[in-house]
Amino acid sequence: MPTQPLGWIGSRKLLRQLRDLMKAGGSGQDRLDRVVRLIADDMVAEVCSIYIMRAGEVLELFATWGLKPEAVHRTRLRVGEGIVGDVASSGQPLTLSDAQSHPNFAYRPETGEEAFQSMMGVPVLRDGRVLGVLAVQNKSRRGYTEDEVEALETVAMVLAELVGASGLIGEEEERVTDTMASLPARLAAVSLNEGLGMGYAVPHERGIVIRQIVAEDSGSEIERLERSLGEMLGAIDDLLRRSELRGLGEHLEVLETYRMFAEDRGWLERIREAIRGGLTAEAAVQKVQIDTRQRMSKVKDPYIRERYADLEDLGNRLLHHLLGAEGSAEAADLPDDVVLVARNLGPAELLDYDLSRLRAVVLGEGSPTSHVAIVARALGVPVVGRCPDLLTRVRPGDFTVVDGDNGQVLLRPRLGVRASFADAIQDRAQRRAAFAAARDLPAVTRDGQPIVLLANAGLLVDMQQLEESGAEGVGLYRTEVPFMVRDAFPDVTSQTEVYAKALALAKGRPVTFRTLDIGGDKALPYWAGTPDENPVMGWRAIRIGLDRPAMLRQQLRALIRAAAGAELRVMFPMIAEVAELDRARDLVDRELARHAAAGGHLPSEVKLGVMLEVPALVWQLPALFGRVDFVSVGSNDLFQFLFASDRGNPRLARRYDVLSPPALNFLRNLSVQADAAGVPLSLCGEMAGHPLDALALVGCGFRILSMPPAGIGPVKTTIRGLDLVPLAGFVERLSQLPSRSVREQLRTYALDHGIPI
Ligand code: PEP
Ligand code: MG
Repeated sequence: MPTQPLGWIGSRKLLRQLRDLMKAGGSGQDRLDRVVRLIADDMVAEVCSIYIMRAGEVLELFATWGLKPEAVHRTRLRVGEGIVGDVASSGQPLTLSDAQSHPNFAYRPETGEEAFQSMMGVPVLRDGRVLGVLAVQNKSRRGYTEDEVEALETVAMVLAELVGASGLIGEEEERVTDTMASLPARLAAVSLNEGLGMGYAVPHERGIVIRQIVAEDSGSEIERLERSLGEMLGAIDDLLRRSELRGLGEHLEVLETYRMFAEDRGWLERIREAIRGGLTAEAAVQKVQIDTRQRMSKVKDPYIRERYADLEDLGNRLLHHLLGAEGSAEAADLPDDVVLVARNLGPAELLDYDLSRLRAVVLGEGSPTSHVAIVARALGVPVVGRCPDLLTRVRPGDFTVVDGDNGQVLLRPRLGVRASFADAIQDRAQRRAAFAAARDLPAVTRDGQPIVLLANAGLLVDMQQLEESGAEGVGLYRTEVPFMVRDAFPDVTSQTEVYAKALALAKGRPVTFRTLDIGGDKALPYWAGTPDENPVMGWRAIRIGLDRPAMLRQQLRALIRAAAGAELRVMFPMIAEVAELDRARDLVDRELARHAAAGGHLPSEVKLGVMLEVPALVWQLPALFGRVDFVSVGSNDLFQFLFASDRGNPRLARRYDVLSPPALNFLRNLSVQADAAGVPLSLCGEMAGHPLDALALVGCGFRILSMPPAGIGPVKTTIRGLDLVPLAGFVERLSQLPSRSVREQLRTYALDHGIPI
């Protein structure tokens, strides 16, 4: 049989045939048998098969055209087993031109599938759950186009209705698959926001069931779309207003970006096009969602991936308006303790929930820079993401523990486990209350050494936490965050506004602005740099700033304007050699001269510093110290370069320890030299916010630590419980040991000396 790509036009015909078939009578099995044949014909495939999820998370071959008929109801694969099992566990489509050489290929002799080389499988999803897998196979080795994947996904949407409604598996079993659950399970995930939370799983995508897929009259469907769109925009405006009342809106630029997406022409045009292709408005929205997911799975750029999540959020919202569903999360009947479970979530969707009941969020996708994670951080809600098994494993109402500290989800834990997490949560609440009570106490060691505790910030909303955490100022203001949530490079005026607001919210406390650190792991959607082979060591941060000085000068101009009459502290990221600092300083001087010549109000004082993140700089310390007002160690980057160990690679995550002799020696040596030169030295990487690491840093001679605001209370408690002189001696001894990590020795020291960690 010849192979040819199938476009949307081809699948329109197929859609009509499927609709007719669904209207016609016959048993569910009978209809499935006809469906596979139709699809195989239409898609020019030699095989089309449908696997349906049965109790025990087993996928059973329910119908096939092309495989041996005796395999039907005999061939079974567990979720995660074989290629079909892979599609079910990821909830994502998979195309393979040589399926048999795929490491997960599971050969089933009864099917005769050895004759077929290429394969395309898509999940059959309904209401956010995987009901089965639809697969086509070809004899020849061939690739499948994106159009073909989209077409098969659209067909799977129709099939989901058939599978869901036709009683193919007995009601009793359906109940079992629904609540199958009885066994506890642990799912690995990635921490997107720290903290612990537990409650009952509430699937976010519930309630949206599309019954009408194919439309007769495209014109009236487009009208329905436009009407619902208008309603949705109105509702979003209401939400933005409400968020402002909750004290979030003013600072959450992310929500405004969301409004902008709602008017995105490209997105709307794709929906209209799908309607013109024969779908109802709701099916068109869902089709565009599916296509978007499919594209997203290929996009590497985390920023773009996250913006797709916002589109998904809007799609769901639009579906609710189209279907007139009373689907609003606020109206829903929620348990008192909600663990929200979703493939992905937009920031506004999160705010729809009654926040007083929201204990945690689990996402199938997501990343720490996703808007929902940023908003959740501001709300103090723990979030884990990249939990690929989520969709098949969690059932509504499952008791769920979310461990945002260790990136894991415990489903249906036994009572003992549940109780120990409940204790841990209560213990934390008590400790938080104790930290709040200690907010105004000084961070001074028992033997009288003051330690300056500063906060890291990146959004204006973080500035609010300065007050709450008791931080003495901001040691690292990551200026790239506002750049990341916009769709174009902000001009000098809007940058000035952001920096001026940050300074105003700091109420006279010092704020150290780091100039743009884009590139590496921080991509901007409108900045199309050439992709680097190794981005964190590539063209990023000050390297871009010096090669594109107009951009850095605009930022410096905005900072100078914002700090009129006040102290301006600026630090440059990723400085590798003193010559780079000299060039950056030259740009500052030029901007100051320009501002003065224009009669502008200058900052009262300008202090310049560098982030020490590149080890080479340590071999130029005398020259460096002669040129800067301060130095801040960026330990996140520094240690990945020092150990040549990617900070984002989970396989290396526990391989090297920052609490190890080489790292401690490095830090001690640096602090001794900074001290001798009289240059203030701080550390602003994540480790500063972990009490045990902070203990080591103080022992190494650091007197200024900058950390996420949540770390300030715990670190202050540690500092107030330690004696510096014996600690410094102990840390010096640790740094001479040949061990790979001295973490345990330090922990024992803290316990022996009654230092809270
Ligand atoms: C660091 O590298 O330690 C740092 C604070 O910068 P960032 O995490 O923003 O790269
Ligand atoms: Mg860094």
